[in-house]
Amino acid sequence: MPIGSGIRAFAITEQVDETPTIRTVRLDGSMHAQPGQFVMVWVPGKDEFPMSISYPGERFGITYKVVGEGTRHLSIMKPGERIGIRGPYGKGYSIEGRNILIVAGGTGMAALAPMVEQAVASGASVDVVLGARTQSELLLRKRCERSGATLHITTDDGSDGSKGFTTDKARVLLEVGVYDMMYACGPERMIVGLLQLSRTTGVPMQASLERYMKCGIGICDSCAIDGKHVCVDGPVFSHEVLSKLSELGRTRMSPSGGRIPID
Ligand SMILES: Cc1cc2nc3c(=O)[nH]c(=O)nc-3n(C[C@H](O)[C@H](O)[C@H](O)COP(=O)(O)OP(=O)(O)OC[C@H]3O[C@@H](n4cnc5c(N)ncnc54)[C@H](O)[C@@H]3O)c2cc1C
Repeated sequence: MPIGSGIRAFAITEQVDETPTIRTVRLDGSMHAQPGQFVMVWVPGKDEFPMSISYPGERFGITYKVVGEGTRHLSIMKPGERIGIRGPYGKGYSIEGRNILIVAGGTGMAALAPMVEQAVASGASVDVVLGARTQSELLLRKRCERSGATLHITTDDGSDGSKGFTTDKARVLLEVGVYDMMYACGPERMIVGLLQLSRTTGVPMQASLERYMKCGIGICDSCAIDGKHVCVDGPVFSHEVLSKLSELGRTRMSPSGGRIPID
């Protein structure tokens, strides 16, 4: 139901615990979007924030980690309660090639899960590296296994799959395999590591970036990085663009507008 300024109201149908810290909220309407596009989620009376569309189509959904007030309030909302949604916004991933490597770190799998399914459906051979700090935080693992992609697990603490980072596993796969394109979403230090691998192996890459966002439509400048607006020029960027971003992996804008180092 439209409620002004392009915001539509959706009732929550269910909240599903994906990991001890990450939940999926399913909504009573549809959202058709490219993998990697996002929506602005308005939690009435609290906050509005960007979220990737982890379940596009009917009964669409977003998969979120509780970070601050907005996501905390969303996490305690019950079926039947309503939130506001604007979007879909931004440029998503474009599926290219027959041999694809997808690298997801932490909540990055929320943006990449529809990409995995569409890439497999396109007939491509798909390797997925899914990484998390520990086994219980591996996100959407079963969905990924069901998709028909080949899954490679990494955990920082070695509790499942290979001990180490997603970039370590991606390096091994890139050394032995032949890939047409690499797709990534996750912590910015992971994106920086993969960009280096893209340079050395010559495998092109598309990666989604996260920046603090207020408007989502290219007006407020909150998400600017080297003159690009993550909300409209991204959030998915090609390796050519990523290579020119001097702020990548170094600084981001804080909610108050100052530059702060990336963790
Ligand atoms: C395009 C895009 C897609 C995203 N998709 C997802 C997703 O699918 N799942 C998910 O869990 N999260 C996703 N995020 C991150 C999510 O938007 C933030 O976690 C959310 O805004 C936090 O809102 P809050 O009101 O709970 O916290 P706030 O109170 O607004 O913030 C708490 C703290 O987190 C920092 N912060 C907030 N937003 C960001 C950001 N975008 N980048 C860096 N730091 C931030 C703030 O500076 C503050 O320190 C996405 C971000 C972008 C830009």
